[in-house]
Amino acid sequence: MSKLNLYNTLTKNEELFQSIIANRVGMYVCGPTVYGAPHLGHVRGPIVFDVLRRFLTKEGYQVRFVRNITDVGHLVGDSDEGEDKLQKQAKIEKLEPMEIAQTYTDIYNDVMDQIGVLRPSIEPKASGHIIEQIEMIQSIIDKGLAYESNGSVYFDVLEYSKNHNYGELSGRILDDLMAGAGNQSRELEGQSEKKNANDFALWKKATPEHIMQWTSPWGKGFPGWHIECSAMSAKYLGEEFDIHGGGMDLLFPHHECEIAQSRAAHNHQPAKYWVHHNMITINGQKMAKSLNNGVTVKQLFDGTHPLLSKSFSPQTLRFFVLQAHYRGTLDFSEEALIASEKGLNRLQSAVNLIDKLKISQTATFGFQDIEQGILDALNSDLNTPQAIAHLFELARRVNLINDGKETIDALNLELLNKIISVYLRGILGIQEIVSGASNHLDSVLQLLIEMRAQAKSEKNFALSDLIRDKLKTSGIEIMDSKEGSSWRIID
Ligand SMILES: [Zn+2]
Repeated sequence: MSKLNLYNTLTKNEELFQSIIANRVGMYVCGPTVYGAPHLGHVRGPIVFDVLRRFLTKEGYQVRFVRNITDVGHLVGDSDEGEDKLQKQAKIEKLEPMEIAQTYTDIYNDVMDQIGVLRPSIEPKASGHIIEQIEMIQSIIDKGLAYESNGSVYFDVLEYSKNHNYGELSGRILDDLMAGAGNQSRELEGQSEKKNANDFALWKKATPEHIMQWTSPWGKGFPGWHIECSAMSAKYLGEEFDIHGGGMDLLFPHHECEIAQSRAAHNHQPAKYWVHHNMITINGQKMAKSLNNGVTVKQLFDGTHPLLSKSFSPQTLRFFVLQAHYRGTLDFSEEALIASEKGLNRLQSAVNLIDKLKISQTATFGFQDIEQGILDALNSDLNTPQAIAHLFELARRVNLINDGKETIDALNLELLNKIISVYLRGILGIQEIVSGASNHLDSVLQLLIEMRAQAKSEKNFALSDLIRDKLKTSGIEIMDSKEGSSWRIID
């Protein structure tokens, strides 16, 4: 049996994980709305839930991991009003909304592959599950907990609250919401078709110019954002499954609404454990378009963002994310990333020594405590920073053995190799080839940049230009600025 303790946002307690069906785990994680290139805020969740999935698999569970693609119904501003995010982007790029969806789904999956996130078992699209969503909406109407109004369908929050606690997940109090919404409703047009400003859309009537629309019992329209996750999780994982994951920013309204919809349609809440990861901030600030501090993953990998002076490998990014506990905030800065890169290099250098260690008859060092330490850390609400601390201790011991100050025997060497392959590679998902290659490339290029600077200072412009031009023909651009030079791979 598993010894995994997970913090459940629904009960606000750390609980021993027990799957609903023995040896099987059903896991649903809210996926991306595919209308733009993924930025740093989009990688934390996938990495955290990937580690959780890998850990459960290692513990002997057969995990069905569902992560959706939102390609319809997510409106600008995350509420019931405004344009569909994909449709808006489609106009800007002069493409069909489904071309936007395909383009950004492909980019998203490329990034996930690069950072070592395993592909989901099932990756359902909202637009491919309109029938399921209509059926679920109809069953909520049949229960008297949703109503049609002017071709749209809204969830009746007040009616639902007579027998349920709307706010059970997020801790929001309905009376407070009502007071807040009262002020808003006077300002927002379109709220008048709702009985109450807190009611949320299950189905929205489409205007003729709205491209993505489907026929429904209530006329032509499109589904609301929240209903897709309820309908698709129930379809692929059943009406009650083990783990529902997502970011803390989705607690309200998205996940609160998912719970309300499932309780209304299926008479119980959908997931046994609700797991939420915290957000990534940048230099202490929230990431926001208005602050112009959003770093895309691609900019990080090729070092082209103004906040960065160099590029970082996907493995460094993954390691950086796992060096913080998933429920704590994680502040992104170049300094922090450089620290992670150094740490990862230190770990990798020690791992490279393992094959060269001399085996002795007796061992002055064992590694059982390291393995147990990592296991205990992961069991303790997926404490990856603690697991990594044990790996650093492992690296320290390997260096001492390599220096001849301590000894290792055959049995412990075997255990050492097992810890690397099972925990570092298998569960934390830190792979060597990618980071190794890119780190070497970086050191070679730093050397060339230094040589070029030297040539320039000696007024040997023929040589400095030669270095720049030759690199350019091999697809690497040297960028000069006041702070010095950096490099990037040309597309
Ligand atoms: Zn969702």
